[in-house]
Amino acid sequence: MKDEKNPNNFNPVNSVTIFGGGTAGWITALSLTVQCPQLAITLIQPKSHSVIGVGESTQPDLLQLLNKAGIPVGEFIRECDATAKCGIYYEDWYDIGTHFWHPFTDMANSDVNYTLAHHYQQLMLKYPEKYTHEDYYDAVHPSYDVCVTHKKVDGKNAAALHVDADKMHKFLRERLDNVTVYEPETIEVVSEDNEEIRFIDCDGVKVGGDLFIDCTGFNRILMQHLNNVDEDAKEYYHENVESAIFARIPYIDREKEILPYTKAHAQKHGWIWTIPLFSRIGSGYVYTKNSCTADEAEKQFREYWGVERMKDVPLKHLEFKSDSLKQPWKNNVVAIGLSSGFVEPLEATGINWIVTAANNLSAALARKYYDQHVIDFYNSGMSNYVSDVQDFIDVHYKLSNRKDSVLWNYHTVRGHNPRLYRKLEVYGTEMPAKWNRPRHMPWAFNEVSWIDILNGYKFKFQVQDINDETVGRMQKEFARIRSLKKGRADHCLTPYDFIKDIHDTNNNTPVEELPNK
Ligand SMILES: Cc1cc2nc3c(=O)[nH]c(=O)nc-3n(C[C@H](O)[C@H](O)[C@H](O)COP(=O)(O)OP(=O)(O)OC[C@H]3O[C@@H](n4cnc5c(N)ncnc54)[C@H](O)[C@@H]3O)c2cc1C
Repeated sequence: MKDEKNPNNFNPVNSVTIFGGGTAGWITALSLTVQCPQLAITLIQPKSHSVIGVGESTQPDLLQLLNKAGIPVGEFIRECDATAKCGIYYEDWYDIGTHFWHPFTDMANSDVNYTLAHHYQQLMLKYPEKYTHEDYYDAVHPSYDVCVTHKKVDGKNAAALHVDADKMHKFLRERLDNVTVYEPETIEVVSEDNEEIRFIDCDGVKVGGDLFIDCTGFNRILMQHLNNVDEDAKEYYHENVESAIFARIPYIDREKEILPYTKAHAQKHGWIWTIPLFSRIGSGYVYTKNSCTADEAEKQFREYWGVERMKDVPLKHLEFKSDSLKQPWKNNVVAIGLSSGFVEPLEATGINWIVTAANNLSAALARKYYDQHVIDFYNSGMSNYVSDVQDFIDVHYKLSNRKDSVLWNYHTVRGHNPRLYRKLEVYGTEMPAKWNRPRHMPWAFNEVSWIDILNGYKFKFQVQDINDETVGRMQKEFARIRSLKKGRADHCLTPYDFIKDIHDTNNNTPVEELPNK
């Protein structure tokens, strides 16, 4: 919109108002506090505030943001009921009886295009008897031996956390005393010609801002005022699942049951997540109503954990929208969190999406102004990120060999976004690499993550031309991994002891620097 006083639409930003006090609202406030200390930040959450209440498995970026903010991670772990997450363990996805491992690794962080993950795939093509899809994870990722085989935590692999999202909001609210919080009983949003938000009336107080951030979850309250929520405003996405049942499950034997990873266990009609917190397990069954009824899903979920164990455990049912806005930043509103989009809980992309968006917005606002060019740059970056999330999630269903229900029969053969076919063709030919995943765009997953997942589905890459120098470098790398693994698990703590130590000692050292036994 043209501004009379500002004909070039060169909009200074000295203040932002965040509407919504869920995970998106508080993480955005944290990111802006760290990266744009000059900004005046206001957050509005209604008195009768309610959040979605799931979102417990995170990726390394949350820990990195906490570290950047100088928040003692030990304190965060103690107050947010957190445990260490070293990756995601997949069971029964390719076929019943199979498993694979998606760890956090810094293998793709260097400038090197060809990693050990790439090399193992090449060795499989050359020597299929000796190198197999099943052995790939143990040969390439030292975390497989420690976390999957021995169920222990190596501080170096504990790059992320499982957290209680409600406790995290409270924790951040207490720490961010620079944020002005309104908790009104009545709220009215006032916009100008449905093009810009003018202010949000909170019990009669007009709360303005140079920029508004819509963190109102699936309700998208501010975006509705800009008419940015109808079907044309959204990217088309054909979701695989759309319903969930979830519960807080008590431990029976906590010391044994805390896992060092999130478990994603494929089922007939969807998949079940197991997220171990320190005091309880967060678990849910994500499924599609095209494949079973809510009652059937509930019965299956109770049986999964044991009917007796689940006797007094309340369950919550919810349906979610899998979509995304084409313009998450429109005029003077940026949507972050569920208001900007969501795919599904698999791979914990919800909070990662929030941190990525908040990071990109903070980088843009560090310049203290925005114009249409800044908006377009932000939107194209987020669009690239979201495409990667959607494609990565789709691969988990599309490449499965399962055929035991409507879900698997349909999503393994249906038409997918042409972008996904192109991606699989390019990755099959060249392998996922930095040259086909340019660094100036934000991607949701790195090239080694793509290989880890594709390997789980026995995907075949084409033979690459590898020079002797690279082969020599890879041999040394294999030897290094073997020596790293040697006896390593004996010196690592169980996931329970790892966290208990942080509780007992008031230890505030960053997780990756924590000593092992
Ligand atoms: C089944 C399921 C499982 C998930 N699991 C994970 C996971 O393991 N890991 C992960 O990273 N992500 C996960 N997610 C995503 C995660 O839950 C969200 O990314 C996260 O909760 C972000 O929520 P939010 O802050 O955008 O919205 P919400 O939590 O819904 O917060 C919305 C805020 O807006 C306010 N609000 C809403 N409507 C109005 C209104 N009309 N007027 C005034 N205020 C309003 C609310 O009071 C609240 O303050 C999961 C999502 C689902 C559906």
